[in-house]
Parts: sequence; C-alpha cells; structure tokens
Amino acid sequence: MAEETIFSKIIRKEIPADIVYQDDLVTAFRDINPRAPSHILIIPNKVIPTVNDVTEADELTMGRLFTVAQKLAKEEGIAEDGYRLLVNCNTYGGQEVYHIHMHLVGGKPLGPLLVG
Ligand code: AMP
Repeated sequence: MAEETIFSKIIRKEIPADIVYQDDLVTAFRDINPRAPSHILIIPNKVIPTVNDVTEADELTMGRLFTVAQKLAKEEGIAEDGYRLLVNCNTYGGQEVYHIHMHLVGGKPLGPLLVG
C-alpha cells in the first residue's frame, strides 16, 4: 500500500484547496504556487506515487487525467492559445509530492521545454 501525501487530504477535503473538478477517478485543484495564470494539478484519487508505479489497471484513470485536462483548459480559456501538461518523476524529474500529478499550465507563452 503506497503512502499517502497531503494530496489525499485534499481529495477527501480534510484540508482546504481550490478544487475545480472531482469525479470517481480524479481530482483537480489549483496549484498553491502557480507558475502561470492557469496552473492546475490533476491527480488520481488512488495513491500512485510516481509514473514508475503506474500499471495496466490504471490506464482508465491515466486517460481521465488527459480528458479532464482538456475540459479544464477549455474552461480556463487557454485551449486555443495552448498550454503545457507536465508530469515530473522522482528526484531528477523534480518531483516534490509523491502522489502522481499532471500539471496543467497556461495563460501565457511558456517558452521552450526545459530539460535541464
Ligand atoms: P512536483 O514538483 O511536480 O511534485 O509539483 C508539486 C506541486 O504541488 C508544486 O507545484 C506545489 O506548488 C504544489 N503543491 C504542494 N502542496 C500543495 C497544496 N497544498 N495545494 C496545492 N498545490 C500544492
């Protein structure tokens, strides 16, 4: 059983967060330290620590991250101009919270992808 993080408390609404979407599989909320006008985290309700821990059984949930990202991008008004979806993995990937999360970032030109 994977260890819970602060994100599980957000899912269960035990601590405050600006939740913008929730269903049976995923939850989305605004990043507490936004790096762009729109910065939302989309996470599975189930604890999956990193991309390395994703299994075939999680494929529906992982797909849901994308369809919810698409829906939220439209709602944020950033779909046409474009946005970035980002998932960090482990130390070198810059992951801070070990509950897999997709960053939806947009609302300004983001420049080239940073790889180092
Ligand atoms: P990462 O570096 O990919 O693990 O990203 C973790 C993200 O979680 C960072 O962008 C943080 O600002 C964000 N974060 C951490 N704690 C919270 C919180 N309580 N509510 C919303 N976002 C958070």
